Amino acid sequence: MKETINIIGAGPAGLTAAIVLRRHGFPRVYEMSSHVGHRLSGDFQGFENWSSERDITEVLKETGIEINFLYVPCYGGTLFAPEMKPAEISSDRPIFYLVRRGPMPETLDTGLKEQALSLGVEILFNHRLDPGSLGGKAIVGTGPKKADAVIVGITFNTDSKDTVGVIFDNDIAPDGYAYVMVHQGRGTMAAVLYRDFRRGNECFGKMLDFFRDNMDIVRDEKRFGGYGNIFLRDTQIQGDSLYVGEAAGFQDALWGFGMRYAVLSGRLAAESLINGSNYDMLWKRELKPMIETSLVNRYLYAGFGHTGYRHLTRQFLKGRPCDYLRKHYSPSFLKRLLLPLATRHHERQGMRLEKFYGLFSKDRR
Ligand SMILES: Cc1cc2nc3c(=O)[nH]c(=O)nc-3n(C[C@H](O)[C@H](O)[C@H](O)COP(=O)(O)OP(=O)(O)OC[C@H]3O[C@@H](n4cnc5c(N)ncnc54)[C@H](O)[C@@H]3O)c2cc1C
Repeated sequence: MKETINIIGAGPAGLTAAIVLRRHGFPRVYEMSSHVGHRLSGDFQGFENWSSERDITEVLKETGIEINFLYVPCYGGTLFAPEMKPAEISSDRPIFYLVRRGPMPETLDTGLKEQALSLGVEILFNHRLDPGSLGGKAIVGTGPKKADAVIVGITFNTDSKDTVGVIFDNDIAPDGYAYVMVHQGRGTMAAVLYRDFRRGNECFGKMLDFFRDNMDIVRDEKRFGGYGNIFLRDTQIQGDSLYVGEAAGFQDALWGFGMRYAVLSGRLAAESLINGSNYDMLWKRELKPMIETSLVNRYLYAGFGHTGYRHLTRQFLKGRPCDYLRKHYSPSFLKRLLLPLATRHHERQGMRLEKFYGLFSKDRR
């Protein structure tokens, strides 16, 4: 395979595809911005590590990705659920790895860019392309197009010690959660809303008040926002283009952990071009079952509300939160039964939001 493969989008999905393809050919990445990670603000994110028996670090290495970015194992934190005492959770394996996102040094985005460049991948910045406009085989990793979840938060500096905290409370983050992560004097706190986006500012204020009471000093605050997109469609092949990452709707529907799916789908798309296998077959085998289960998890999480949040917290307190979550991300007969209901609920919610944003367009899902 010696022809040039075009990749649109230099996010984790597109750059992973480029890194894998470079061992066999000549990937060229088109990025509309002048730098990688431009939609992120130096905030901390979590690379989830519970949905598979294998540690995500091994998966990254096997994909050919070196850890040349901030990558900190997190073994626990404090959970706050309504009408419960703060719950200290701990795990014998990292629940997630803290990474930083954005265009600056030490971020996942900059790390992947540097690896791709050092392998000889061509990245053309300030090139915005429409999928299909190039002709020939392409990988499309252009990120989210609409909002199924909205995130409002701040990055900050603090004297507080390293910490992780999560709030489950519909008053602060409707059907979602709020989080704080502090690492070596730098922090991120944010509320993730899955409905009532109009209440974004109010929720942001409540989240800030809640966490500030628990932080020593917060200074140099910088506000950020973002959104996440999740959907399932029958095929991720359109013409000669393979869709990866959030452009394909690949994301954990329960809590919006999209980086794992971005990396895995970028790798699968590259491998399908290298060895001629069918990309749809690959992602349906490797990713679809977990995304479907996460859609059902979202349906249940939103349906049970505060009662469910307390139940979840109690389960985590029993120990081995990764095992508990892995079980809940595994397909089961009951979850398969609930899938049509969950999918319809997700689509209805999405359509309401599209109307709200005046973005209604059938081909977005
Ligand atoms: C605030 C926030 C917090 C998050 N927290 C977490 C977390 O804790 N854990 C987690 O796993 N996930 C988290 N996510 C989700 C995660 O960041 C995404 O799922 C992941 O970045 C998706 O990667 P991607 O490569 O598909 O898309 P992106 O990272 O969005 O990259 C797409 C790239 O394509 C470029 N592009 C778009 N259109 C074009 C075009 N037409 N031509 C050329 N280039 C184009 C964009 O400029 C961008 O650089 C969070 C997201 C947000 C916004």
